[in-house]
Amino acid sequence: MDVYTLDLQFLGLPHVIAAYLVVGPGGPVLVESGPSTTLESLRVGLAAHGYEPADIRHVLLTHIHLDHAGAAGWWARQGAHVYVHHLGAPHLVDPSKLLTSAARIYGPQMERLWGEVLAVPVDCLTALYDGDQVRACGLSFTALDTPGHARHHHAFRLEDIAFAGDVAGIRLPGSRLVSVPTPPPEFDLEAWRRSLERLSAEKLAAVYPTHFGVVSDVREHLDTLDRLLDEAAGFVRARLQAGAAREDLIAEYTAWDRARANAWQVGEEEFQAYAATNPHFMSVDGLSRYWSKRLEAETSSS
Ligand SMILES: [Zn+2]
Repeated sequence: MDVYTLDLQFLGLPHVIAAYLVVGPGGPVLVESGPSTTLESLRVGLAAHGYEPADIRHVLLTHIHLDHAGAAGWWARQGAHVYVHHLGAPHLVDPSKLLTSAARIYGPQMERLWGEVLAVPVDCLTALYDGDQVRACGLSFTALDTPGHARHHHAFRLEDIAFAGDVAGIRLPGSRLVSVPTPPPEFDLEAWRRSLERLSAEKLAAVYPTHFGVVSDVREHLDTLDRLLDEAAGFVRARLQAGAAREDLIAEYTAWDRARANAWQVGEEEFQAYAATNPHFMSVDGLSRYWSKRLEAETSSS
């Protein structure tokens, strides 16, 4: 078995979105489709390993966010079978709600960022449940339900590694800095921390976050992410309780994150690469939504 990281060169930038090409005894499997806007880079990446799109018969998706799954319908039209979490599956068959939800975050940038989002025909799609095995090309992937970034999120275990989607956070090649993407509307702190415990218990030799590439110091990475989740959530909670307005909170959160990057000796250019992968406004909006609901519930029950 060979695993290759394909750089989808999102918006012309390196190391923002990956897809993984896994070559088993029976041929190639793709983990993550990326969005339609990066299909040309994906095609180039496949060709570098001697494959063309028609060779891809199986596409596994960690979740349905457009940077991971936007091109799923295109792959289905090429004859590939698509595998995704059962809670995400209906939104690939009919992407209208997915597009509405993404448009709330990205507004007029939708087309430029993600391009065309085609529906996946229902007979080209397998909805996965926790523990399901995907047997493809002589490989056996196990779906691990790992909510937190999104409710409909799987990591895929393959032998002693796992394709982690966004549940293992963001870590750019050559960097020790970890970043946490907490978008609305499904970010859930407790669920995410349980998912990290679960991943830790898998005793993996390596994880492959979609942003970006292999992480081999798995235990240290997951511990760092766990602490970061707590810190990021705590920061936003405290600012909300102090009555911070959205624009101020975004500026403060960005400054807090920049100070964190400085502490890890991360320069401004690399910091901007992290910010392109995980925009601060998006994470602030996800954390604010999460806390607003909980703080409201606390107020109304006291
Ligand atoms: Zn995501």
